[in-house]
Order: sequence, then C-alpha cells, then structure tokens
Amino acid sequence: MDSKIIKYILVIILISFKASAIEFNGKFIQGHFIIGKTDSNSKVKVDKTQVRVSKDGYFVFGISRDRKYDLVIAIEKDGIIKKIIKKVQKRKYNIQKIDGLEEKKVTPPEEVYERIKKENKLIAKARAIDTDLDFFKDKFIIPVDNAIITGVYGSQRILNGKPKWPHYGLDFAQKEGTEIKAMLNGIVTLAETDLYYTGGTVIFDHGHGISTLYMHMKDVFVQKGQKIKQGDIIGTVGSTGRATGAHLDIRLNWLDIRLDPATALN
Ligand SMILES: [Zn+2]
Repeated sequence: MDSKIIKYILVIILISFKASAIEFNGKFIQGHFIIGKTDSNSKVKVDKTQVRVSKDGYFVFGISRDRKYDLVIAIEKDGIIKKIIKKVQKRKYNIQKIDGLEEKKVTPPEEVYERIKKENKLIAKARAIDTDLDFFKDKFIIPVDNAIITGVYGSQRILNGKPKWPHYGLDFAQKEGTEIKAMLNGIVTLAETDLYYTGGTVIFDHGHGISTLYMHMKDVFVQKGQKIKQGDIIGTVGSTGRATGAHLDIRLNWLDIRLDPATALN
C-alpha cells in the first residue's frame, strides 16, 4: 500500500479515537461515585437515563449498593453513538443479627409515622434537585478533624428477624460541639434543626444530581439557599435525632441512588 494512503488511514483512525475520547475517575464497584470526562457537546446516557454534561465535558453518576447487572454508558457525538459496557464488581457488607430486643426499640411509635413521612418527603425533594452546577468534580475534604470512623456504608442490622434499612452513611465519632467543615462547594437545599431520625440536618446540592447530607448536628449554622465554600464551618457535631452518641453521619447521593461517601473522600 502507498505510504500516503497508510498515513491517511492512520489520521482517520486517530480522529475517530479523538471523537469518542472518554475517561472515568472512579471504580465500577457497588456503591462507588464515578466522574466521567468526555468531549464537550457530547450527550451521555447512563443505562437509559440522559445525564447532564458540563460545558467542559464532565458528567457524574454512581452505582447502587446492591447493583448486580452491567452498566451501559452511551456517548453520542456528531450523531455517532459509542456504547461502553462495564461489569459491576460486588462488595461484601457487614450484616449483624440481633435478637431478643424489646419491640419498641425495633419499630418507631405510631404517633411519629406522619412526621417521619413528611420529613422523608422533604429530604427526597432536596435529593431530587438536578442543577448545572459543577462543584462535584472537585476533590472532597474530610468534614471532621481527628475523628474515629465508627460506621461504614452498606452495613445492615437484622433486629428480631427484621432486616433494617442498610446504613448508607459514613460515621465520624467526635466530641459534641466539634466544628464540621463543608466537604465541597455547594448550595444549601435543606437546613433543619430537628428531624426525627437525623436531628440537625443539612443537605447540599453540588450539581448534576449530586448531593451530600450531614446529620445528627448539634448546631446548624447555614440556611437554605446559601452558597457555601469548601472548608466553611457549617455546624457542629451532636447526637440529635436517633443517634447513639455524638457523631457526624454523612451521606452522598446521586439523585435517588445512595453512594458510599468514602469513595468520594478516598
Ligand atoms: Zn450513621
């Protein structure tokens, strides 16, 4: 073959590679937080859901705690669709069985059902916010200094034979009143001082459906709508709501999917 033709073919191959360039920062493991980077003006679907792509090509998604089937990412640019199929690696979670508990310790009293329902709606509404902010692509920082990790993502307790809601947070035990720093720039979408389960609670929007939640806070220093910078003091550690001892429990969500905060914090 003529060397000119070979060069021509090489250039075509290079151009077509460039057109569908994609990188992932994160692992395809249950519970993980993953940032994608592709060319600007691309359209991205994760499974069948179209996700936001920032002007500079960033998008974000996550993998649920118990996801078993493969993840399909479709990138469309200039009418060409490239499909990437990723296997999801499974994790083992800590399951703890406790029997012989008093029934009232296992189920909340009936008179608080309405309250819990109302508060769950408030939280769900804040988590459903999907804006074009792109704070999610920055590195998270640890929210409490010198804390001990006392609870991790995914663990579950089976009380008197009833499987309880898995623990989706990361717990930082520290003295009551210790300052809590914002892990990332964000906009406050919920700031409450007394929710039944979570007590003093703050939720931030970081863009593209990524939210973080801080709970059991003693003091809440921020207000809904406020723009917060990474490292700002947003409140203090407490044991408000249904908490056993002073600790900060943080959550990371991609819309209604609960992710492991440790995968964003390293
Ligand atoms: Zn917790």
